[in-house]
Amino acid sequence: MADQSFPITGFSSLAIHGGHEKDPNYAHLTPIYASSTYVFDEAEQGMRRFSGQEKGYIYSRWGNPSMTEAEQKIAAMEAFGLKNEQGEPLELKGILHASGMAAISTLLLANLKTGDKILTHFSLYGGTEEIIQRLLPSLGIGVVIDDLRDLNRAEHHLKNDPSIRMLYIETPANPTIQCVDIEELTSLGKQYGKIIACDNTFATPYLQQPFRFGVDFVIHSTTKFLNGHGTAIGGILIGRDLPFMNTHATKIHRLLGGNSNAFDAFLLINGMKTLEVRMERHCENARKVAEYLSTHPAVAKVNYNGLPSHPDYAIALKQMRHPGAMLSFEHKNGLSGGTQFMNKLKLCTRTVSLGTCDTLLSHPASMTHYGVKAEDRLKYGITDGLIRMSVGMENIEDILNDFDQALS
Ligand SMILES: *Cc1c(COP(=O)(O)O)cnc(C)c1O
Repeated sequence: MADQSFPITGFSSLAIHGGHEKDPNYAHLTPIYASSTYVFDEAEQGMRRFSGQEKGYIYSRWGNPSMTEAEQKIAAMEAFGLKNEQGEPLELKGILHASGMAAISTLLLANLKTGDKILTHFSLYGGTEEIIQRLLPSLGIGVVIDDLRDLNRAEHHLKNDPSIRMLYIETPANPTIQCVDIEELTSLGKQYGKIIACDNTFATPYLQQPFRFGVDFVIHSTTKFLNGHGTAIGGILIGRDLPFMNTHATKIHRLLGGNSNAFDAFLLINGMKTLEVRMERHCENARKVAEYLSTHPAVAKVNYNGLPSHPDYAIALKQMRHPGAMLSFEHKNGLSGGTQFMNKLKLCTRTVSLGTCDTLLSHPASMTHYGVKAEDRLKYGITDGLIRMSVGMENIEDILNDFDQALS
């Protein structure tokens, strides 16, 4: 185990050692602390812990050593190599949640109140879109949705609508892999005094660090590439305003009760140790799959932000280490072509979700967006033949051989 004072210089070293604290029983890995509560030596100690005079665990909805390690590791990765306004290493606070949606709920309810509005891009994760479009309005919180790749439109809203309190972005986004410019949008948002939050799930902190550009909050569904093995649902809210995170955000998290648990945290901690090596392989494979698909006669269009033909290629190049492992493509025979292709796959996995070792494919028109009217789907670029793909870590020849037979 690394000495706390050792100056770690590489991302993988941090992913492996970051956030770990020596176990009091000298266990190599932080054990799964399956305990709902923590005991006090004496009543006065309970008092000191409740009042915050003494550090220590009380109740696992509030915190647990397994969850703490995952929180510290992700916060350290998001802050890796970054400096604060004073030029010192950036310090961030993460709060682990039961799911990405739970982390997003805490973010929204800790920052917005009746009369406020949220400004966001039109391409968002489905659950996020529903919470913003259905739940927030019932609390009197409005929403403004636009194409935030157009900075003039973004500025128009930020400048003219003082009730906009938060700018919420997700980049790259589902399913057309659109990217928005984190640096430009953050600088505009700051100019007009807004809170800026970024969903960094598709990229992970290895590929993209939104705090570099000054965002206030980052959220992740840790279910995806961070866990990396599809073994647990989870999410995290990370913030740079430590007093806010340690008081108000912590309070809202505890009250809403969307806490994670020790077992999922354990799976997440160990999954994250290989983040860099996994992402390198995922991204290399994704680039090869995108190149293969872009010349295939059965494919009408490829959406991959690493291809110069993608409208957001330049933004991805600017803010991401690699363009990522997510892509989508349109089968030229529409709904039947998409369905037949999915049914013919022999190696790759037919499922929703993303970020596991195996290659995952979903067909939105027949799966996630089956109930959505075609005209609404088309607005988001979800055509009948669109296939979404999370490129896995198999040997590339095998992925391409499976595609060869399934596209024939
Ligand atoms: C999956 C996902 C979420 C929601 O996370 P859960 O862990 O499923 O609650 C949010 N944002 C993005 C981009 C996602 O892919």
